[in-house]
Amino acid sequence: MIDRQTVERIIETTKIEEVVSDFVSLKKSGSNLKGLCPFHKENTPSMMVSPVKGIFKCFGCGKGGNAVNFVMEHEGISYPEALKWLANKYKIEIKETAETPEEIEKKNIRESLFVANDYAQKYFTEQLFKSDEGISIGFSYLRERGIRDDIIKLFQLGYSQQKNNAFYEKAIANGFKRDILEKAGLIKIFDNKERDMFFSRIIFPIHNISGRIVGFTGRRLDEKQMPKYLNTNETDIFIKGRVLYGLHLAKKAINQKDLAILVEGNTDVISLYQSGIENVVAGSGTALTTDQILLIKRFTKNVLIIYDNDSAGINAAIKNTDLLLKEGLNVKILLLPEGQDPDSFAQSHHQEEIEKYFNDNQTDFISFKLNYLLKESKNDPVKKAGLINQIISSISCIPDSVTRAIYVKKCSESLKINESLLYNELNKSLRNNNTAPPYQKQSNFPQTSNVLPKIPLYVDDFFNETEEKEILHVLFNYGNKALIFEDPETKKEQTISVANFIISEMKTDELEFNNLFYRKAFELISQQLKEHNYIEIKNFMYNEDETVRELAADLITEKYELSKIFKRRGILTVTPEKMLEAYVPELLLAFKNKVVEKAIKDKQDKIKVLQENNLINENLEVLLNEISELIKIRGEISTILKRPVTRYM
Ligand SMILES: [Zn+2]
Repeated sequence: MIDRQTVERIIETTKIEEVVSDFVSLKKSGSNLKGLCPFHKENTPSMMVSPVKGIFKCFGCGKGGNAVNFVMEHEGISYPEALKWLANKYKIEIKETAETPEEIEKKNIRESLFVANDYAQKYFTEQLFKSDEGISIGFSYLRERGIRDDIIKLFQLGYSQQKNNAFYEKAIANGFKRDILEKAGLIKIFDNKERDMFFSRIIFPIHNISGRIVGFTGRRLDEKQMPKYLNTNETDIFIKGRVLYGLHLAKKAINQKDLAILVEGNTDVISLYQSGIENVVAGSGTALTTDQILLIKRFTKNVLIIYDNDSAGINAAIKNTDLLLKEGLNVKILLLPEGQDPDSFAQSHHQEEIEKYFNDNQTDFISFKLNYLLKESKNDPVKKAGLINQIISSISCIPDSVTRAIYVKKCSESLKINESLLYNELNKSLRNNNTAPPYQKQSNFPQTSNVLPKIPLYVDDFFNETEEKEILHVLFNYGNKALIFEDPETKKEQTISVANFIISEMKTDELEFNNLFYRKAFELISQQLKEHNYIEIKNFMYNEDETVRELAADLITEKYELSKIFKRRGILTVTPEKMLEAYVPELLLAFKNKVVEKAIKDKQDKIKVLQENNLINENLEVLLNEISELIKIRGEISTILKRPVTRYM
């Protein structure tokens, strides 16, 4: 238990902006700060941090709270653990009342694994610096690799003894439970005998973004041992695809330089860091995961890939380029002189030389791919033709159309191919990437498109536009949610997103909003849905058009609760899914009803004008026919609307 006074001190000392910027790069935005939300995937920042109020709030996923909440959520830890985390950050001493054995028992597994890893790291580092074996074998190896003591300490490197249960015995003697050591991946049980996971290896702790140790990599020192690099198996706290080696040290420099350098191995990171290049991280394995890319994206949108100059390295670079492009990052690639890797290059050059080489030799991914593929194709015309497709397929990964256009231009210049030709290929490729189906009528609602006039551009008094705004509300707040319908013909259930349903209904009936701003927002939503089959609200919050931005902010911040509509009707217990299934079709019909009524009124007005002017001709007949058609539709709509809403539940 932490005493109350200490808790108060922690809360008083803590600055929300300092805590959040440990994990996310924040930029000033008025009196607030904003940054990419770490709790959901996004391209444009929608998380606001208010230093004055001491809170954060994400307008994309809705997460929010104070600094303690942020740490709890981010680190996946409990309230007292988050307080301890903050105390540690602000160097506040915690006076903890003694824990009873039951309390210790209750500490959750995750925390125990962190504690075991901390202990293991200290043990391995002590072995490296203080044991005879560690000094003569481990330490001398690191010396040979040219790694300085301060860097060894900073990266918390260590050494595991040749004896294959040395760590286990020491840990048990210090009160650790076998069960926890095994769960942390530090030991393995063979034939009911405990064996260390790592022995006779140099130990590299793997840290999460906040610097806690989640696992280890061991590099063999005995050439006969397999494999060369051994990683902790995945545990409750270590998921390989969710960490980047070195990020806890690099994040600050990445933020400052607005660039992350991506290398392949732990030693590449360490050597570059030692040379003064601190904005460097390594993935684990060959292909980056989305989680890893999102980690980078919290601090910068720019990545420089430096992999080994061999075919494995080049192929990995090309693969990761596409993955990074897909997440909207800008990618440059650098090839080191042949036979060099970042480790050896950093060891043999000064910081200024390294920086100059990096600056002079990095290329954009198009030139890189082009050079590489041209070399590969060796004037083979068939291969050369395939080359264009490969580059275009990379460009098609880029989500932003403006960036795509820039690269098409670049590609056209370097390949000396007409831009329009490239656009043809690009569009084909985009269509292939895009699985969204063309608009199809989804319901058996009355079709209005044949008889309805195009709605005039002027804002009409007839419309109070309630339904239009309501439709946008639903699109913004529930657009990506699923609706389940029974196909009227096959009687089978089919699933469709709320947005797809609304938009296909509107498009097949050629309906448009009366309000111009709403219409614009609606068009942007349908465009986005067509491109990504998903609605990203943040894209509206940061649209270049101010009116769209304002409307989006309005629609998001305005308190909107579907349940209120149901409460007004005396229906209290309904799931959001059921509400949507009932409400969305009803809302669309109400809108259609309004459109139809307006059309009827317009036509009646016209007839009046014709009659007043004694122009009884064929026009009148056409109008009368149209009106009777519309009245029929109105009748169908109102029959559906008159049914009680509970029919859906
Ligand atoms: Zn969020």
